[in-house]
Amino acid sequence: MNDYETVIGLEVHAELSTKTKIFCSCPTSFGANPNTHTCPICMAMPGTLPVLNEKVVEYAVKAGLATNCEISKNSKNDRKNYFYPDLPKSYQISQFDKPLCEHGYVEIDTEEGKKKIRLLRIHIEEDAGKLNHDEFGGGSLVDLNRAGVPLIEIVSEPDLRSSQEVEQYLRKLKSILEYIEVSDCKMQEGSLRADVNVSVRKKGETKFGTRTEMKNMNSFRSIVRAIEYEANRQIDVLEEGGTIEQETLRWDEVSGKTFSMRDKEDAQDYRYFPDPDLVAIKLSDEYIENIKKGLPELPETRKKRYLEEYHLSEKDANIISSSKYLADLFEKASAICNNPKAVNNWIISDISRILNETEQEPIDIPFDSNQLGKLVLLIDKGTISSSIAKKVLAELFENPRDPEEIIKEKGWIQISDEGAIKEVVIKVLEENPQSISDYKAGKDKALGFLVGQAMKQTKGQANPQMLNKMFIEEMNK
Ligand code: ADP
Ligand code: ZN
Ligand code: MG
Repeated sequence: MNDYETVIGLEVHAELSTKTKIFCSCPTSFGANPNTHTCPICMAMPGTLPVLNEKVVEYAVKAGLATNCEISKNSKNDRKNYFYPDLPKSYQISQFDKPLCEHGYVEIDTEEGKKKIRLLRIHIEEDAGKLNHDEFGGGSLVDLNRAGVPLIEIVSEPDLRSSQEVEQYLRKLKSILEYIEVSDCKMQEGSLRADVNVSVRKKGETKFGTRTEMKNMNSFRSIVRAIEYEANRQIDVLEEGGTIEQETLRWDEVSGKTFSMRDKEDAQDYRYFPDPDLVAIKLSDEYIENIKKGLPELPETRKKRYLEEYHLSEKDANIISSSKYLADLFEKASAICNNPKAVNNWIISDISRILNETEQEPIDIPFDSNQLGKLVLLIDKGTISSSIAKKVLAELFENPRDPEEIIKEKGWIQISDEGAIKEVVIKVLEENPQSISDYKAGKDKALGFLVGQAMKQTKGQANPQMLNKMFIEEMNK
């Protein structure tokens, strides 16, 4: 087992967040009723003509520049011919020999340091429709809302050597695409999905082994599991003297196995030819230069800035800068409360935990930086305790509004009035004489217990520092 090496190359599809489709003016938004986002062009009526959406070219060039690609000034669209019920034209408009972007790379962190994963190309193409199986008495229904939604396909060289590297690479790519705002990258909605090509070879071997391909995978977890399963399966076959067939496989999440779907097509099977209905794509140096100038700060640069400007730890800077949404939230909220350390802690601990528990992504955070900044200010001013702040955060996730309004409405203002604090302290001491003797006998835990009791009686609203101080004063009297 150990004398084998796994080789992986990915074809990543990202749906572009243009308002309209690639060759018609239908909307691209997700979740509409079936076949409501359609017109004669994306339904492939005879005689209709496609017109290329200029934004698609701009977004693809942006993605190419952000991943260190060369941009082709002369590019074109080609027809890729195949039949499938979700593809009403019986061909997909894609790009064959002249993709918009070529020869880029994405850098990932590995145990041995930074590693460049080379990109063969990035090209533009249209998405197919969607088949809904099994919902209606065993039949399948076709929904063409997705037909003609613009995609970029990012093809990597077979430079990846483990499932961990693949996960790193995908996370990095996702993060870059989010930063340059060309795709929302929502994997559950299929906005970002990968075809995963896997082969194995003996260590030291220079030729690649035969690969298999698993299509349309859209969760990190499945991708990692599928690669590990498939690599082991191939090794077993080879060890038993068999050969690997080049084929397309289906990953089954429930059984944790791959199954054969069909033999792999070659480029020649698709009979590519230039689409005669579309003009060539010619880009000027000035056009490319302008897009380059407009590129925002990318994750790597932001991370550096967080280390230097805000003195975040390497780990925290990595987590926050990896998501544009978290990074923007962090910076804007910090500007409001002037306490980046506290904002950092909220994002890394409580906010991340809630996102995990509710299986949401940073883009789904319902409150804004203003509200988070104000929450931190309220703690810093002593208006609320940190335990109340946690309750306010939960409210912000439920029904986001001004934190000040929330605490007024709920009556959650911290009790910092000396008289009121003293009253609780005396009451708790009367109720717990044993704790007083324990404390006097040197058991520090007793103090914590008493403060906890006082917190309980005030529903978490008493100022904990004041409680601590006053318990000690009273018991030392
Ligand atoms: P196709 O579009 O027919 O699947 P491409 O050559 O465009 O073929 O893309 C193939 C993908 O498979 C690329 O990402 C490439 O890195 C990867 N790949 C090619 N050969 C191997 C191999 N032997 N093992 C693993 N991955 C491979
Ligand atoms: Zn349309
Ligand atoms: Mg492929």
